[in-house]
Amino acid sequence: MTATVPPATEAIDGRTLAVEDPSTGTTIAQVARGGAVEVDRAVAAARTATRAMRDTAPLERGRALRRLAAEVDAAAEELARLESRDSGKPLSLARGEVAGCVAYLDYYAGAAGTLQGDTIPLGPGSLAYTVPEPVGVSAHIVPWNAPLSMLCRSVAPALAAGNTAVVKPAEQTPLTALRFAGLVEAAGFPAGTYEVVTGLGAEAGAALAGHRGIGSLTFTGSVATGRAVLRAAAEHITPVVTELGGKSPQIVFADADLDDVARQVVIGFTANSGQYCDAGSRLVVDRAVADELVARIRARAGALTLGVGLDDPDLGPMVSAQHRRRVSDYVDLGRDEGAEAPTPPQTLPAAGHFVAPTVFTGVTPTMRIAREEIFGPVLAVLEFGTEDEALELADATDYGLGVGIHTADIDRALRVADRVDAGYVMINEYFGGGVAVPFGGTKLSGTGRERGLVALESYLTRKTVVARRRAP
Ligand code: NAD
Repeated sequence: MTATVPPATEAIDGRTLAVEDPSTGTTIAQVARGGAVEVDRAVAAARTATRAMRDTAPLERGRALRRLAAEVDAAAEELARLESRDSGKPLSLARGEVAGCVAYLDYYAGAAGTLQGDTIPLGPGSLAYTVPEPVGVSAHIVPWNAPLSMLCRSVAPALAAGNTAVVKPAEQTPLTALRFAGLVEAAGFPAGTYEVVTGLGAEAGAALAGHRGIGSLTFTGSVATGRAVLRAAAEHITPVVTELGGKSPQIVFADADLDDVARQVVIGFTANSGQYCDAGSRLVVDRAVADELVARIRARAGALTLGVGLDDPDLGPMVSAQHRRRVSDYVDLGRDEGAEAPTPPQTLPAAGHFVAPTVFTGVTPTMRIAREEIFGPVLAVLEFGTEDEALELADATDYGLGVGIHTADIDRALRVADRVDAGYVMINEYFGGGVAVPFGGTKLSGTGRERGLVALESYLTRKTVVARRRAP
């Protein structure tokens, strides 16, 4: 089966954007370059559809979400191939992300019927109660690194809570978001429930973030853009969930199983070619085992294959030529800062935007490669002598997203989990968790939580009704 590309959507003025396959650098589609006008149109359609969604009983919404999960599941191979081609990610990773989308839809299908309010007795004849109500139109600005998975992560709870959704996919990877529209329709949701506006961030994204007609905004992307969307949303006091970047440490104590840890560290910093927000891009390791662990990590990383996403290598390309330059510049910077990394053994494919996995030792906490998000397959190794030093190193960035803790001592693991400043801690299993487990960051990594039942709150408002029975 080849990856089919959805037809171009239309912008009012006919402008389009080229979409590239980053594995080969060739153009695979043209999509509309939407802006403020297309956003207005989409928000208006979604607003009209809010009436039908509000009139749908929660269990019926749940059934519709379950039908949508079945539609996505039936189209899973097509969607995975499309995603792999559009983003360059290895096909099996794309298949896993589509399965993740199905899981979000299934999970929130069940959650739709669980929405409840509170009852507060106020004394004889007097009562207050709260009613969870949808916010109306929910807006979703999505990044390129896991396009369909990130989209489903926020759109599924938004629909379960009774809202409609307007989505602005990343300009690099809009194709699965467009294909998803046909599946929402096939699942029987009212027209306008799910609207997509493709286009540039500064045009379509900015117009959506500052739109008067949206009731919530979920933004997943970089810190710089996060600041811009928060400013835009401030105009209408729109509540915003921000899921931003990370520089997540994997903390390894000397009693950990080093072979298992080496495997997990390599997955942590190379999965999706390092283009995950919670990539374990720093190794914080006990000095006593650092050399041995780094040798095992370099051996594993050096054996990884790089290639065209649809050929299912271990690692695909960076999403664009621009991003590849950015990651390569960080590798050069690391050497200029005095850190050491042997040249990786892989020969890079001739076309496409590839970077081989690179492991830096001799890193100090003040180096930029130790503090800044690189978003590529680059690991910075930092060594500690004591648990306090490990915590100090782990917290020595402006981010607070993921933390991995590897140790055979469960007391130590739980103590470090308590003390570390981050939103998501994984003990002895990097990337552990799933749709039912709340995810989000502290510090510059963002506000709000996605996944789990708590995520529904971002798409609800609570109306309070206070009632008094007239005497007697
Ligand atoms: P980005 O901020 O460049 O773009 C994200 C989205 O914002 C895109 O759709 C883009 O078009 C849009 N955008 C750009 N400028 C805009 C503006 N002025 N107004 C409104 N929208 C605008 O991020 P990216 O490079 O696509 O994604 C990578 C970043 O996303 C990394 O920092 C990564 O850590 C982060 N990320 C975080 C999570 C999480 O859950 N915390 C998940 C995935 C990615």
